[in-house]
Amino acid sequence: MKKHFSHPHPLKLSVSANGENIETDAIIICSGCEQTLLATDPVYTCSKRGCEFFLHRSCSDLPRNMDHKSHPDHGLTLLSEPPEHSLYYNCNACGDLISGFSFHCNKCEDFRLHVKCAFLAESVDSKAHLHTLSVEYSSTHGSREDQDIVVCDVCESCLTEGYWFYFCKECDFRTHLECAISAEGPPVSPVEEEDHDEEGLSDQERLMLATMKAEGQMARLQFQMQMAQLNAQTISNLWR
Ligand SMILES: [Zn+2]
Ligand SMILES: [Zn+2]
Ligand SMILES: [Zn+2]
Ligand SMILES: [Zn+2]
Ligand SMILES: [Zn+2]
Ligand SMILES: [Zn+2]
Repeated sequence: MKKHFSHPHPLKLSVSANGENIETDAIIICSGCEQTLLATDPVYTCSKRGCEFFLHRSCSDLPRNMDHKSHPDHGLTLLSEPPEHSLYYNCNACGDLISGFSFHCNKCEDFRLHVKCAFLAESVDSKAHLHTLSVEYSSTHGSREDQDIVVCDVCESCLTEGYWFYFCKECDFRTHLECAISAEGPPVSPVEEEDHDEEGLSDQERLMLATMKAEGQMARLQFQMQMAQLNAQTISNLWR
């Protein structure tokens, strides 16, 4: 059992978010970082029946205070929920509303970051671009300052001035944070089955090849059986 400042009841650690009493097909969101919990994530759940509170173990260990490069003059404090009377509590990095934890400036009323944004990678290798992209905290769009509207080079919708973006200086390429992180690469063509040229093989080689193929098939079958067993086990665990 663990007590966490963000929740009134004791929490217990479970290996999977799909604890008892919870629908297994529901998408479960971490109350801290607001990301979907994966079945493999170690997670704290509320020990009280009927109380649906989930927290990544990693989110339960977040520092209560941090400094952030984007806001160098003041320290930030971890809040478990928006302060009272805050009407439109949005993140200064991505612009989206914050409903989970936030890092809030100790001095400024209007500076706060999502947990995920506070720990955003300063540079990413995105499939969206050849070069490494670096995050820009500045509120202007650099060389495109003279333009009224700056668009994301991935989704081609507007980049709102004042929010962070990923940038390649060399190419004057910029994207939403989300667009760089979730960018799908160009479709990868499936690996083609090797076309075994069986012409001109000796009988012995032909036999070896046939054996290898058979063994390959056996291994595949065994693998499939193991997977089927594993699935059956997992499913029976879920329904226990
Ligand atoms: Zn989390
Ligand atoms: Zn609770
Ligand atoms: Zn954010
Ligand atoms: Zn501040
Ligand atoms: Zn975009
Ligand atoms: Zn580039």
